[in-house]
Amino acid sequence: MKNILTFVEIKEGSILKNSLEAISAGKKIGDKVIATILENNEKMIEELINRGADEVLVLKSEKLGKVNLDIYVEALENVLKDREFTAFILGGTLVGKELASRLASRLEVGCVTDAIGLKLDENKNIIWTCSAYGGTLFSDMMMDNSKLQIGTIRSGAFKKLEEEERKGEVVSLELELGEKGIKTRIVDVVKEISETVDLESAEVIIAGGRGMGNADNFKLIEQLADLLGGVVGATRPAIEAGWISKNHQVGQSGKIVGPKLYIACGISGAVQHVSGMVGSDYIVAINKDEDAPIFDVANVGIVGNVMEALPIMINEIKQKKEN
Ligand SMILES: Cc1cc2nc3c(=O)[nH]c(=O)nc-3n(C[C@H](O)[C@H](O)[C@H](O)COP(=O)(O)OP(=O)(O)OC[C@H]3O[C@@H](n4cnc5c(N)ncnc54)[C@H](O)[C@@H]3O)c2cc1C
Repeated sequence: MKNILTFVEIKEGSILKNSLEAISAGKKIGDKVIATILENNEKMIEELINRGADEVLVLKSEKLGKVNLDIYVEALENVLKDREFTAFILGGTLVGKELASRLASRLEVGCVTDAIGLKLDENKNIIWTCSAYGGTLFSDMMMDNSKLQIGTIRSGAFKKLEEEERKGEVVSLELELGEKGIKTRIVDVVKEISETVDLESAEVIIAGGRGMGNADNFKLIEQLADLLGGVVGATRPAIEAGWISKNHQVGQSGKIVGPKLYIACGISGAVQHVSGMVGSDYIVAINKDEDAPIFDVANVGIVGNVMEALPIMINEIKQKKEN
C-alpha cells in the first residue's frame, strides 16, 4: 500500500494551485493520497478532497500561526516520522523547495526537485522524471525505495484534478512542537510590491521579450495583461534592459509557469525560456520571424510586428468588453 503525503501551501487565504497539482501527481503513484494542511479551514479541506485527496491531515499547534519554515520543518518532520509514507510531494515553490531539501537532509532520505513526470515501473519503483540541460533532455531518477522519497514538482507539469464531490477522511493531529530547531521568529509580515507577481499560480501570462524594443513599448504587455486579468512575464534580455523587474522572469533561471494562456510577444523561444513556459495549456506567439523557435511550441502563431498586433488585440478586447 503506497501512502503519499502532499503538502498544502496557502497564500492569502487560498490553496496554491501547485499544491492541488501535487495531489494529482500523488495519484499517479499512490494508493492513497493524504494532503497535509496547517490550517483547520473547512472550505479548504473540502476543496482538497474534491480535488483528489483521500485524506486530509490537519496539523494543529499554536506555533503554526504564521509562515515560519523552521516551525513547518519541525511539524512535518513529526508527521513523516509518525506515519509511514512512500513519498512526500510538494509544489515547486520557494517554500516547497526549501521544505523538501531541509526535510530530506534531516531524515537522511533522497530528494528530487522540479519533477515533470511520475510513474511506477514494473517492479513498482517510483520513477521521477526531470528535465535536464534547459529542457533538451529528460532524466528518469529512482531513489532507495526502502525509504521515504521526497520530491517537488514543476508548476503546470501535473494538471490539478477537476473539482467534483468526493468523500474523504479528515484526521487532526495535535503537535507538541519544541523550540529546538526554531531559529527564526516572525515578527511581522510585510507585503512587498514584488510579492504581488504570482507567476506560478497565474492563469493568464502575457510575456514580452527583446522584440518589444523598449520600455515604453513594453507597457503594451502590461495593458494586455490588465485587460485579461493576467500577470506580466518577461525574458531575461527584457529584464536586463531594465524594462521590468527580475520577479517577472520566466525560464530556467526564473519562474516555471503553467497558466491556461501564455502570450509570448517578441520572444525568440530560446530553450532557457521555453523550459519555463512549455507547460502552459495554450500558447500564442507573436514574432516577426516566421522561423522563430517559439512557433514550435505555440498553439497559435502570429507572424508579424508586435507593435501592430498588440494594439489591435487590445482594442478588440476593449470593444468586446464594452459590448
Ligand atoms: C544559464 C542561462 C540561463 C538563462 N535563463 C533564462 C531565463 O530564465 N529566461 C529567459 O527568458 N532567458 C534566459 N536565458 C537567456 C536565453 O538564452 C535567451 O537569450 C533569451 O531567452 C532570449 O530572449 P528574447 O527571446 O527576449 O530575445 P531574442 O532571442 O533576442 O529574441 C527576440 C525576438 O523578438 C523578435 N522580434 C524583434 N522585433 C520584433 C517585432 N517588432 N515584432 C515581433 N517580433 C519581434 C525577433 O524575431 C526575435 O525572435 C538564459 C541564458 C543562460 C545562458
